[in-house]
Amino acid sequence: MSQVQGQDDLAVVIGLEVHVQLETETKIFCGCSTEPAAEPNSRTCPVCLGLPGALPVVNEAAVEAAVKVGKAIDATIPERTRFHRKNYYYPDLPKNFQISQYDAPICQDGKLEITVGDEHRTVDIRRAHLEEDPGSLKHKGGSIDTAEYTLVDYNRAGTPLLEIVTEPDFRGSEEVRAFLAKLEEVLEYLGVFDPGRDGSLRIDANLSVVDAEEVSDEGAIDEDVLEGANRTEVKNISSHKGAEKALSYEAQRQKNAIQRGRAVEQETRHWDESRGITVSMRSKEAEKDYRYFREADLPPLAVADWKETLDIPELPDARRERFREEYDLSAEAADKLTSSRAVADFYERIADTFDPGLAATWVADELLGELNYRDMEITDVEGRLDEVERLVELVADDEITAKNARETVLRSMLDDEDDPDTIVDREGLGKTGGGELTQAVDRAIADNPDAVEDYHSGEEGALNFLVGQVMQETGGSADPGDVNQLLRERLEE
Ligand code: ADP
Ligand code: MG
Ligand code: ZN
Repeated sequence: MSQVQGQDDLAVVIGLEVHVQLETETKIFCGCSTEPAAEPNSRTCPVCLGLPGALPVVNEAAVEAAVKVGKAIDATIPERTRFHRKNYYYPDLPKNFQISQYDAPICQDGKLEITVGDEHRTVDIRRAHLEEDPGSLKHKGGSIDTAEYTLVDYNRAGTPLLEIVTEPDFRGSEEVRAFLAKLEEVLEYLGVFDPGRDGSLRIDANLSVVDAEEVSDEGAIDEDVLEGANRTEVKNISSHKGAEKALSYEAQRQKNAIQRGRAVEQETRHWDESRGITVSMRSKEAEKDYRYFREADLPPLAVADWKETLDIPELPDARRERFREEYDLSAEAADKLTSSRAVADFYERIADTFDPGLAATWVADELLGELNYRDMEITDVEGRLDEVERLVELVADDEITAKNARETVLRSMLDDEDDPDTIVDREGLGKTGGGELTQAVDRAIADNPDAVEDYHSGEEGALNFLVGQVMQETGGSADPGDVNQLLRERLEE
């Protein structure tokens, strides 16, 4: 009889296949627009409908985007890359084959650094290949197994995808989450991906459970063990949160099976988001089932030197390090300010014009804080960044108090869409200074002889009282620091 294993004796192994929608204006093999359209089947042509005789032409922009990703993940770009046909029948696939890549994918052997807690880890990326997205199915009156009928929309058919395949390097869902976040960040920096777009990142996760003793302290597992482990492929995961839930569920399901002495079936499972479970879809298809063969309608592409000629921007990790050194930022501030390329670009613009520390406060804390509160992103106020810059200028030039800038002007800018100067005028927030402030200070001194006496006998609290009087008098529009200083000067005269 085999020994019964406890759950602690079992370790989880995960490998990912991530489909990234590349942001191009037109589809990968035809001139149809990739913009989502309200009208089904309105963005189609003979090529993406798979009509007889129609011939594909590769979209250069999609190939460029893939090479940029390859450069960012430090992959090898082969001398020649070529396309294959992956044959299968499904109603969203009008040609009955998908143009994909097989033995010469555009990116090979890359890697991505992730951070989990304080630990840095490298995830190896086996390959990344280009392919066309199928169309989409709309199940009417139910889900896939209960619908009365199903409609098909080919607008999405032919959207360029990059399928990124990792080695089975993950040992838990936390690492998966860190990887997905990092990948999204890099893709966004490269400008090849729109994280806000529905379905722009779709994840298939392969999961197996092995004997914990097979895992070394560094997390390494023998090749034979990995190959021998029965794994499932969980499809239909569309978010980071979904990935975490689906993987926890699937890990537990497999552990339970093993504990009860049942073998884990090698199969494809479907993540049912609404029910929070994975369900068996079909026994896993093998490579030979797809009858891969060369796509004779597309010539091989010589792309190796594109890696040299195509430029990519500074990537998040490098930018984070540079921000810390160049602008003397804390790790936390640097993290926030490099969380997206749009945020980092805006920070640099402000930091180079004003003080880097003031810029960090205004971009990382005030602006991102207020945007986050409203469920907005910096890209939602892209057209108004000049106005935010003007607001920082008003503070930097001491024309309004930081408190008013934050609590009144910025909030009103976001809620009422007014520009900062209009709000300052309307709310009378221009700082009380010069003669007006001196008068208010002198009046406070004249009206409160007791407090003045207390101050001279060394009671610091008396000064705070006088500052309060002046602030009240000026309706809060004076700078407390200025008031404090001016009061001391007048009291010492
Ligand atoms: P297939 O031929 O079935 O597509 P691959 O070897 O190409 O299998 O791997 C597909 C995915 O499965 C990869 O993401 C890989 O990391 C993952 N994978 C391989 N072995 C395991 C395993 N033992 N446990 C979990 N995932 C694995
Ligand atoms: Mg596969
Ligand atoms: Zn088309």
